[in-house]
Amino acid sequence: MCGIIGVFNNKRSAELATLGLFAEQHRGQESCGMAVNSGTTIKLRKKMGLVKEVFNPHKLDFLKGHIAIGHVRYPTRGASSIYNSQPHIVETLSGPSYALTSNGDIVNYAELRKELEEKGVYFASSNDGELLIKYIVYHVEKENYSITDAIKQLMKNVKGAYSSILATKTEMYTFRDPYGFRPLSYGKTKEGTFVVASESCALDILYMDWIKEVEPAEILICCNNDIKSIHQNPNDFRETKTNRHCIFEHIYFSRPDSFIFGENVYKVREKIGSQLAKADDLKPDAVVPVPDSSNFIALGYAKQKGVPFEFGLIRNHYVGRTFIKPEQTIRDESVYQKFNVLPNFFEGKKIVLIDDSIVRGTTIRKLVKMIKEAGANEVHVRIGSPPVKFSCFYGIDTPTREELIANNKSIKKIREFIGADSLKYLEIDDLRKTVSKPQDYCCACFDGNYPVR
Ligand code: SF4
Repeated sequence: MCGIIGVFNNKRSAELATLGLFAEQHRGQESCGMAVNSGTTIKLRKKMGLVKEVFNPHKLDFLKGHIAIGHVRYPTRGASSIYNSQPHIVETLSGPSYALTSNGDIVNYAELRKELEEKGVYFASSNDGELLIKYIVYHVEKENYSITDAIKQLMKNVKGAYSSILATKTEMYTFRDPYGFRPLSYGKTKEGTFVVASESCALDILYMDWIKEVEPAEILICCNNDIKSIHQNPNDFRETKTNRHCIFEHIYFSRPDSFIFGENVYKVREKIGSQLAKADDLKPDAVVPVPDSSNFIALGYAKQKGVPFEFGLIRNHYVGRTFIKPEQTIRDESVYQKFNVLPNFFEGKKIVLIDDSIVRGTTIRKLVKMIKEAGANEVHVRIGSPPVKFSCFYGIDTPTREELIANNKSIKKIREFIGADSLKYLEIDDLRKTVSKPQDYCCACFDGNYPVR
């Protein structure tokens, strides 16, 4: 999972991109980077670490220009290293000429990389973003395609998820894969600054005058003061007849204040909670979320049941999200660093503990233990998604199938493992009821129905 941003037509583009990346920090905390274009040259800064550490005002002095594209990374394809961080740039004889940043993952990466390498293209990383930029630049520089035609060619041959931004010295191209796996929105200010971002929360902070979503297979071209859109029929490039937005963006990844795939994330989460409650005959004393991503799911559950919604667990916001730490050892330690119980809150109570998903089961197990040690009589766990049984190949770093607890254990066995008094997951049909166009969603990590392999 990653977050991207592009700013066009503003001499403070790097500052605006920094603010946008900061709003998208939840999408990746391993590294961040920015390429800034002054019209004659592209300057690049990328480093391991958080946005506020990498892009302080002193560093931004170096990054002056009217186009900026940026990235926050959580590793999916390629190890956690600076070489795999983005943006990627490609230099031509006249110097750095192209920069690209992308969110997603490429299914036929190995095959396409081999094809390009056989044609003499050099790769410095194992990151999918480098494949995309090298693919485009090869077709433009060696095969005389226009950039737009190179992107169309890419859509025909590159399989998988990509919400991407390509900057040249004078233009900025934004494009999204034909399935629309990952979110991508854009907006414009009254002054004519164009901004594109993974999530609309990054546009809100920059006071966009209007905001829209980039359509699957759409290409947006920013040139001079103008934005041109090339709408294409996504069915010309894909194996399914409908979109395949990632349902997990609503369940967990996106910020609740974002608007993605035509829906407000917080509203979808409330509906998830409401559906969970409708399928449950329990009457708890309090509904407690695993903060923060489960807050709105728990709120929806509590509203539907008419029972109190309470913050019994307190989260330390200065520890990263446990799900997106790559090492199991780091994850285990950070559960205790990250959560604590409210003193004297749980004693004698029958609690419904709400989480968005169970991946390995290690976090929820420790939380149930923590709450029981704090005096709760009963802890009933309710999960705002169906059991995760399959890995993701479209930009989310889920573990291998062997590591997914729901792939190895029955719900009864999972309940025993996590130590809860009862455990219920959201049914997949009930999950589909929470979005207005269920046919437009990928649910492959629950049902194994992969739209592209
Ligand atoms: S497999 Fe799961 S996480 Fe991956 S895109 Fe599909 S719904 Fe999202």
